[in-house]
Amino acid sequence: MLSRRPFAVLFASVAGLSVLATAYALGVRAGQRSLIAVPVPLSVDAPQQPRLDGLDLRLGQFEARLLRLETLGRRLVQLAQLPAQEFNFDAPPAAPTAAFEQRAQAVSRRIESQDVQLPVLETALVSRRMAAALRPDGRPVDRGVLSSLYGERADPLSGELAQHQGIDIAGGAGTAVVAAAAGVVSAAGWRDGYGTIVEITHGNGFVTRYAHAQRSLVVAGQTVRRGQPVALLGESGRTTGPHLHFEVLRDGRPVDPLALARR
Ligand SMILES: [Zn+2]
Repeated sequence: MLSRRPFAVLFASVAGLSVLATAYALGVRAGQRSLIAVPVPLSVDAPQQPRLDGLDLRLGQFEARLLRLETLGRRLVQLAQLPAQEFNFDAPPAAPTAAFEQRAQAVSRRIESQDVQLPVLETALVSRRMAAALRPDGRPVDRGVLSSLYGERADPLSGELAQHQGIDIAGGAGTAVVAAAAGVVSAAGWRDGYGTIVEITHGNGFVTRYAHAQRSLVVAGQTVRRGQPVALLGESGRTTGPHLHFEVLRDGRPVDPLALARR
């Protein structure tokens, strides 16, 4: 996953460029206005020439840096596999032979475009990372044996055919049960059948349940991160031995946790 560091560098560069380009554009316009308002004697032109050459050189440097930033922007869109048509890092640069003012305006336009696009790109990447953190496809216990699959099965206690709405992982009593994804604890306590249960709401329509716990380690309303211990494996409620009953609900309906982990 991409770190935030490239963005910090990008933003700093763009911010710097924006300030510089604006200063440039203002300077150029102010310079022109003063030229129009106050006719300058021809003799003054000659000493100004070296300064203009210097500005020209600096503008060239900005154009080169901007080109590198645009290339980096395109590369990030590519790496993140975002729809390329939603981003435009191909604003046309002015021809190298164009007048200084035109080139400065083109640079200013390209910076404005990046000013808008880079935050959009960042939001897209961050929200994707958030979605990944909220997706309950993590392992709810470090060590354990998958003892019952999701779906129709003979009830282990009654022997009747019933829908098993989660998976069972058999393990040692007291083993840490961890959050499969980041979220907020929406319930922690006793529920008939489930015994001591922890329920975590993850956003994106996902909810996970960790049942038959020996003890809950969290309270309702608490925020948890992915992998954080939330309960101790046990055999409370309706069980035949110590195991974790792990459920994943999407938009209120149970889904197969293994199918989610495999994707
Ligand atoms: Zn179960």
